[in-house]
Amino acid sequence: MLAGGAYPAMLALGMLKSAPAHAFNLSGNGNGKHIIILGGGLAGMTCAYELNKLGYRCTILEARERAGGRCWSIRNGSINTETGQPATTARFDDGLYFNAGPSRIPHNHELTLRYCKELGVPLQVYNNVNEGAYYFAEGKGPLSNKKVRVREVHNDIRGYMSELLVKSIAHDNLDAALTKEDAEKILEYLMAEGGLDADKLYKASARRGYVESPGAGNKPGKIAGPHKLADLISSGLMDPDFYNVAEYTYELQMTMFQAIGGMDQIAKALQKQVAPMLKLGAEVTSITNLPDGVKIVYKDAFGKQEIQGDLCICTLPLPVLSNVENNFSGDVSRAIDYISYMQTGKIGLQFKRRFWEEDEHIYGGITHTNNDLTQIFYPSYDYLGKKGILIGYYNFNEKAQRTGDLSYTDREKLAMQKGRLIHPQYDMEFESSFSVSWHKTKYNLGGWAVYTSETRKNQYPILLKPDKQVYFAGEHLTYLNAWMAGAFESARSVVAAIHGRVTEQRVSYPAEATKG
Ligand SMILES: Cc1cc2nc3c(=O)[nH]c(=O)nc-3n(C[C@H](O)[C@H](O)[C@H](O)COP(=O)(O)OP(=O)(O)OC[C@H]3O[C@@H](n4cnc5c(N)ncnc54)[C@H](O)[C@@H]3O)c2cc1C
Repeated sequence: MLAGGAYPAMLALGMLKSAPAHAFNLSGNGNGKHIIILGGGLAGMTCAYELNKLGYRCTILEARERAGGRCWSIRNGSINTETGQPATTARFDDGLYFNAGPSRIPHNHELTLRYCKELGVPLQVYNNVNEGAYYFAEGKGPLSNKKVRVREVHNDIRGYMSELLVKSIAHDNLDAALTKEDAEKILEYLMAEGGLDADKLYKASARRGYVESPGAGNKPGKIAGPHKLADLISSGLMDPDFYNVAEYTYELQMTMFQAIGGMDQIAKALQKQVAPMLKLGAEVTSITNLPDGVKIVYKDAFGKQEIQGDLCICTLPLPVLSNVENNFSGDVSRAIDYISYMQTGKIGLQFKRRFWEEDEHIYGGITHTNNDLTQIFYPSYDYLGKKGILIGYYNFNEKAQRTGDLSYTDREKLAMQKGRLIHPQYDMEFESSFSVSWHKTKYNLGGWAVYTSETRKNQYPILLKPDKQVYFAGEHLTYLNAWMAGAFESARSVVAAIHGRVTEQRVSYPAEATKG
């Protein structure tokens, strides 16, 4: 009875407690065992936070002068250090920021949301999907080299695809396996989905927007004719750069959230909890498993230091760890070297006027391009305010490599040169820029772990197990790569494993799936 209907009803009435998907009520005490945690990003700080609750003594060694790692928001005074470039300092107005790392929290990342709640980090909705933003295809077709509203492309393509399917059904091509009633239902559905007319043809609809807005009196509004399917194709607007799937991706479906005032508020809230355990400016240079403990060597402002602990959790990103001296087993060393990372970069551009809102009615969301910019992100805070920071590009792989190879000034030039094709207001309104190329950024050397089926099968499982006294954690040790949820989930998983070992109980996180 509970399985069929009564259970949700009882839940809704508050008669039953819902089973938390991430219960983390470990019993027993760590009795002051000393755990040395390498890296003060979200994974490292979460480990310390949870272990401290369980009675462990923790030391976090963080190389940078700030905690948070990739969870980093750029404000006036932020400093970036990349290989082959001089250090650079952000010059933005007070109150303005952009997120160089995480900018969006999916509604289905329950653990990230839970930690925000537990740590008192206020959230606001992040607008990830905006049909009013643009597609901009550089190329040869009639719709190339001009901005086209996303809604025009989406609704035209949806219309044409529906029309094609309707025609196929009408020609008995697709309906072989369908009953007559089912085929009729599908036809009705396609007409609604595609916005087809009574003749089952696509001839544009209000969904794709107006060339003259409707208003009072004798202003019914005017809908423009659709773009031709052949033009959409020849202009590259049906190429992978513009596939609509991104917004259907599980993690990117609305509702999405962001921390109010910058995503680094999450890191700052964690830092507050673990402050007494955190050593900033402490760069780990060597990790040694001892017969029944671990020895860590690090460099700080006073020179070379050494500490010993009972166990260690290493959250260093693998491209960084690969260059840290250690006595790990051959399998572990190989796994560290084999797993590759994403090349990725962003640039923040401060403008003295929010022209994308004032002139173009774009409030949040993303413009997509097929050039090196890849995407322009519009800010999801301070709507209708005075100034704002756009993310002028957010790119990956070879596009990120090309932009990352440029000097900071040339990156700004590129963002301006390509950006003004879409927003000519760039020239009048621009004030300052700041760029981060993660694969060139010291202490990260990559955006996030990218697994092939081969490395997922052969290398990933090796790092899920400890190498003697050293455990590994971080976004790279999950199936949630590129998400803060990965850092949180991985931290909990390692804390559970350590607690199980120390207290000699069987503890598993995440809880084993129930059979049946
Ligand atoms: C461009 C970009 C966009 C992203 N977008 C999102 C998003 O929208 N939403 C989302 O949820 N997630 C997003 N993420 C992913 C998220 O930022 C990460 O998954 C998460 O922050 C990783 O945390 P971590 O603790 O595993 O690693 P890190 O944050 O990298 O922590 C590792 C720490 O180790 C330190 N360290 C390195 N070397 C040493 C050394 N030798 N000695 C001591 N310390 C050292 C580093 O300084 C760092 O603080 C994004 C990431 C990037 C780069």
